[in-house]
Amino acid sequence: MTPLIEFDFAKGFPLQDVALQDVAKLIGGKVAGMDRPVQYLALLKGGRGATKNRLSYVESPAYWKVFCASDTESAIVSQAVLANQSLPADKSVIVVADNPALAFFEAHERLYQNDRYPRLRGDRGAACVIHPRAFVDDGVVLGERVRIDANVTIYPNTVIGDDTWLKAGCVIGGPGFERKRLFGRLRTVTHVGGVALGPFVEIGSSSVVDCHLIGRFTSVGANTRVDNLVHVAHGAVIGEECSIVAGSEISGSVILGNGVWLGPHTCSNHEVTIGDHAFAGTGSVITGDVPSHALVYGNPAKVRGWVCACRTKLADGGNLSRVTCTKCGTRYERTESGGIRFEKATAA
Ligand SMILES: [Zn+2]
Repeated sequence: MTPLIEFDFAKGFPLQDVALQDVAKLIGGKVAGMDRPVQYLALLKGGRGATKNRLSYVESPAYWKVFCASDTESAIVSQAVLANQSLPADKSVIVVADNPALAFFEAHERLYQNDRYPRLRGDRGAACVIHPRAFVDDGVVLGERVRIDANVTIYPNTVIGDDTWLKAGCVIGGPGFERKRLFGRLRTVTHVGGVALGPFVEIGSSSVVDCHLIGRFTSVGANTRVDNLVHVAHGAVIGEECSIVAGSEISGSVILGNGVWLGPHTCSNHEVTIGDHAFAGTGSVITGDVPSHALVYGNPAKVRGWVCACRTKLADGGNLSRVTCTKCGTRYERTESGGIRFEKATAA
C-alpha cells in the first residue's frame, strides 16, 4: 500500500523507511561510510529547499568535489571515481561498478515499485465549483472556492489554493518529460512529486503544469495568471503575481521571481532563473539567467533596458546610476553585483 501523507510544502514527498543499505541492495551496490536514512533522491545541482537525508549521484571527479562541498549526505558513485578520493567523515556513498546516474534512476524506479513514495491524502474545501466533466483524482487537495471548468484533469499529489480558477481543458500534475534508458529500454521516468498552485491563481485553457520529478512540488505562486496554451514543465517554480502570456513555454526547474511578465510565445531553457519584475517581450528565447527588472527580448533574449515593478520602462536605465519611474515615482539604483542590475533605492 502506498502511504498517504498530509500536505506539507516544505517536506514534499519524503521516502518512507528507507536507509542507504536498502537502496544499495536494490541496485547491487556497496555502502561505504555509515548507514543513514534516505528521504530524498535529488540531483546535486537542484539543491533548493532545506531537506535533509538526501541521496544524489556523482559521475566525475569534478562532481565529487561538488558533492563534498554540498550539504547532500549521500551519493551513488562508481568505483573508478572513488578510487582516487578519500571519503569525508560526514558523507556516505553507495559504490557501484559503473554508471551511477543509471543506478540512481533505477533505484528510484525500484523504490516506486516498492511503494516507498507517499501520496497526498486528498481533501476538498468548502464552496468549490467543479464541472461534472472535470476529473479530479482522489489524491488532490482543494482549498475553498476553487473553480474547476469542464474537461480539466488533475492528477494526484496536486494542491490547489483558495479561490484558484482552472479553465476548460487544462491539465495539472501529469508526468513531465524525463527520458532515460532504464532496465534496458528507453522510458519516461516515473514522476512522484506534485504541483502546488495558488491561492488566487488562474490557469488558462489547454495549459499544462507538470508535476515535480522526485520529492518536491512544481509551484505557481499566489495571484499569478497563466494564459491559454502554456506549458509549465516539471520542477518549475513560479513566483507571485506573474503573468505568463499565451503559448509560452517554461522548461524544467526554471525559477521565476515575483511579478515577472513573460510575453506571448516566450520560451526558456531549463534551469534558468528569471528575476523579480523582469519583462520578456513577445517570442523571447531565454537562454540564460535574467536579472530583476530587466527588459529582454529577441533570440537569444538580451537585456535591452529596465522596467519598474509597475511595468513602465525606466528611461535609459542602462547608462545611469539612478533612475526614477515616471509613472509611479519608485526610485532605482544600479548595482553591479553579479552583472548590472537595478534594485529599489534604499536611501533618499
Ligand atoms: Zn513604476
